[in-house]
Amino acid sequence: MLSNEHQGNTMFELTGKTAIVTGGSRGIGKAIALKFADLGANVAIMHVGDGDNAAATKQELEAKGVKAAAYECDVSDFEASAALVKQIIEEFGEVHILVNNAGIIRDGLMLSMKESEFDAVIKVNLKGAFNMTKAVYQHFMRKRRGRIINISSIVGLTGNVGQTNYASAKAGMIGLTKSVAKELGSRNVTVNAIAPGFIKTDMTDSMSEQAREASLALIPMKRIGQVEDIANTAAFLASDEAAYITGEVIRVDGGMAM
Ligand code: NAD
Repeated sequence: MLSNEHQGNTMFELTGKTAIVTGGSRGIGKAIALKFADLGANVAIMHVGDGDNAAATKQELEAKGVKAAAYECDVSDFEASAALVKQIIEEFGEVHILVNNAGIIRDGLMLSMKESEFDAVIKVNLKGAFNMTKAVYQHFMRKRRGRIINISSIVGLTGNVGQTNYASAKAGMIGLTKSVAKELGSRNVTVNAIAPGFIKTDMTDSMSEQAREASLALIPMKRIGQVEDIANTAAFLASDEAAYITGEVIRVDGGMAM
């Protein structure tokens, strides 16, 4: 039975759709997965080394009355990503929405950043999005519909001290978004990016009080964003209401990067 209890207060509706959310075991990806399930979508999440959280998230998704699955799969592995998407299409019947959310950071000033730290961040954040997009590309093309939502970052727009690798990857995701949007527009596939600002997750909880205060000072809305702020935007982009929006980058940052 699909849960309709949350649908009375929203115009978005994803019943009958299947979404893949990479990095859906915790944080922003989990919030997106739960929001999609609230709106009626079946959800497959992917993670790396986060089995307990992934199992808990899968249970929470199922409790909402939708079909859910959790897979340990590294998005930076081209073959493994392609094989898993094929498996998900077989298990769920079809895929309608892909959210490229999996991401890592390896911060450090350029002076001390190791080549391996640059490569690792590009490989997961940017190449991972390429791999997953490539894996759904023909499926979406054949069905003549689909939604791809890439979770970039405002640092992909502004750059950031200590994040040469991460800012490059996140800016690269914007180029990927716009290019694939142009390629797949005529097939009724939309491709958009969300650029979150400072969002409360495990990642940002580990920041020092001083760094947190410094970031807050840069946010006109004077609060840290919640994962639901990103999930609501992803739900809009996945919905029928956003059918004519493609190649767009939406900042969800309380005004931080304007
Ligand atoms: P998080 O560290 O809490 O969660 C990361 C998720 O990605 C986990 O599910 C993890 O298992 C998964 N993951 C990591 N490497 C993977 C890989 N190789 N293959 C598959 N899955 C992998 O992170 P978060 O704070 O929720 O961030 C989610 C996304 O949002 C990231 O892309 C991040 O860069 C972006 N973002 C976050 C913020 C923020 O303030 N938290 C701001 C801007 C952008």
